[in-house]
Amino acid sequence: VYNFNAGPAALPLTALQKAQAELLDFNGTGMSVMELSHRSQEYEAVHNRAIELLKELLAIPAGYEVLFLQGGASLQFAMVPLNFLTAGTKAGYVLTGVWSEKAYAEAQRLGEVFVAASAKAGNYCQIPALAEIQYNVETAYLHITSNNTIFGTAWQEFPDTEAVPLIADMSSDILSKPFDVSKFSLIYAGAQKNLGPAGVTVVIIRRDLLEKANKNIPTMLRYGIYGKNNSLYNTPPTFSIYMVKLMLEWVKEQGGAAALYQHNRQKAGLIYDVIDGSNGFYLGHAQPAARSLMNITFRLASEALEKKFLEAAQGHGFVGLAGHRSVGGCRASAYNAVPYESCQALREFMLSFYKEYA
Ligand code: PLP
Repeated sequence: VYNFNAGPAALPLTALQKAQAELLDFNGTGMSVMELSHRSQEYEAVHNRAIELLKELLAIPAGYEVLFLQGGASLQFAMVPLNFLTAGTKAGYVLTGVWSEKAYAEAQRLGEVFVAASAKAGNYCQIPALAEIQYNVETAYLHITSNNTIFGTAWQEFPDTEAVPLIADMSSDILSKPFDVSKFSLIYAGAQKNLGPAGVTVVIIRRDLLEKANKNIPTMLRYGIYGKNNSLYNTPPTFSIYMVKLMLEWVKEQGGAAALYQHNRQKAGLIYDVIDGSNGFYLGHAQPAARSLMNITFRLASEALEKKFLEAAQGHGFVGLAGHRSVGGCRASAYNAVPYESCQALREFMLSFYKEYA
């Protein structure tokens, strides 16, 4: 099948094959990786290699820690304010879609927050201009969502917030292109789109923030605890982390983030070209300047035609093309592991559907 699921999403075939080959006997242990103690040398090697590969592939500077957590990106919506939104301070949130609204709503329950900029008025078809973002030196942190999975928009350039910590939810575009990690104080990403399977959330955090984080919260919600214990304070999601390691090995074989970026641009370009050349038959949701390479969102003239499109697509082996239940329409998620051939097949299918129904 051509898997365009928004997450959990496609994984590289070679990583899955490696996992299959090792499933019953990992590295001569006579056990599956799932059966290893998280305190064993064999598991720790996997864990540390995954961290090392993330540091290498994202060019993470010295002074940052890579953590593995559970609870998805959604738990980060609470952990960020619990750790960094101290009484008397306010955090700014840039609203660019459903997930940033959720992050904002969660923080609102825990402290004082404000909307630093919002793209809601245009139904989240663009990203606010950097100059529009409101915050000042007192701001506890500024939170952004780098890629808006549901609306199909992405930041093309990140703000320089200097003394104000910049925090980003990068769940749906981490490792899809090179970027400057040093602009950020904290980055989090659920693994199940671009890094591996569901079950693990990657957090990249500047070490000095670990010191500043609130200590009067439950142990498992403290970044500092994960930092101090190399994310082995309690039992981590070992199998998910193992799969992340396999996926990162694949990313390295592909040539890293820069090579993936070229590849991702070509893949998304195949589909955006059809949208742009269809005389409005396919209506792209995102403004061209804010387009995501990961989630390509579009509508057709009527819900009836969209239904026909989705049914016909399913008949041709395409999976996951329906838009998120909150907005409808269609969405093709072309994450790192989605092959070029899948995007080419979707392009051909969209062209033939256009010829038949335009
Ligand atoms: N943030 C973004 C940008 C997402 O795309 C998603 C899920 O699709 C989430 C957060 C929520 O992630 P999780 O299901 O891991 O909590």
